[in-house]
Amino acid sequence: MQRLHQKVALITGAARGIGEAIARAFVDEGAIVIVTDIDHQLGTAVANSLGDRAIYLPLDVRDESAWQAATAEVLQRFGMLHVLVNNAGITGFENGFENGFVAHDPEHASLSDWRAVLATNLDGVFLGCKYAIQTMRKTAVRGSIVNISSRSGLVGIPAATAYAASKAAVRNHTKSVALYCAEQGLPIRCNSIHPAAILTPMWEPMLGQGDDRDARMRDLVRECPMKRFGMPQEVATVAVLLASDEAAYMNGSELNIDGGMLAGSVVRPVS
Ligand code: NDP
Repeated sequence: MQRLHQKVALITGAARGIGEAIARAFVDEGAIVIVTDIDHQLGTAVANSLGDRAIYLPLDVRDESAWQAATAEVLQRFGMLHVLVNNAGITGFENGFENGFVAHDPEHASLSDWRAVLATNLDGVFLGCKYAIQTMRKTAVRGSIVNISSRSGLVGIPAATAYAASKAAVRNHTKSVALYCAEQGLPIRCNSIHPAAILTPMWEPMLGQGDDRDARMRDLVRECPMKRFGMPQEVATVAVLLASDEAAYMNGSELNIDGGMLAGSVVRPVS
């Protein structure tokens, strides 16, 4: 039996990167997948490439009316929603560094840049959880909400303070949602995944196309014990677990996928 047999799953930001990998893994495991994104062309192409077990719906996670429309359409077409993956997220560095560095440190970040990151990463997750709970409650299915947080939600990142704050808030909101659903007697679990250094298009503005690209890549994973980037599929396999009934007793928990970065530092006694 496939691990997500006939489960209806909506994934945000699934036109590329980790979201796309999760969509592909879910279809492989027997799910019916609703690919959503703000990049309609790419999102449609991903859904089409997945065959008749996937559809594309436009969904800007910051927009409450878009959540209402998307969840209503899911109910109308499929009659239920079993899984929501709140994956869409931005760093604030999407426009690259060619036109100057965008300050995201605690001293210089602008309020509008701060709010833009929180609008997608935190408001988007809040709205997703809200409408997933309401939709799952209506159809009384066993539900699973998977929130993609980050290693940055567990440690401070001075150069990306809005991103780190938003991901820390996602971690905490996950636990509130898990406890709320349990308190309400709803069979809905909510867990967070904390990836780090996963090689997706999100890194492109930071890597650039210059001669120093390889050096930049090595530098970015210097502190990773495994000395490499993770792959989107390595996050997707964990999302499959949390979405499946095999994780029936996992609730409000957090799973790191970071090559060991958060395990500690290698400090040796000096002889
Ligand atoms: P990508 O940038 O590769 O993909 C993100 C997707 O989300 C894009 O298709 C993007 O569309 C879409 N998106 C952006 N804003 C919105 C929005 N408002 N509504 C809906 N979709 C939107 O990112 P990753 O795959 O790398 O990251 C996925 C998640 O994993 C994010 O939450 C990220 O923070 C998290 N993560 C990633 C890590 C990594 O190393 N890659 C590490 C830790 C966490 P468009 O391209 O048009 O903007």
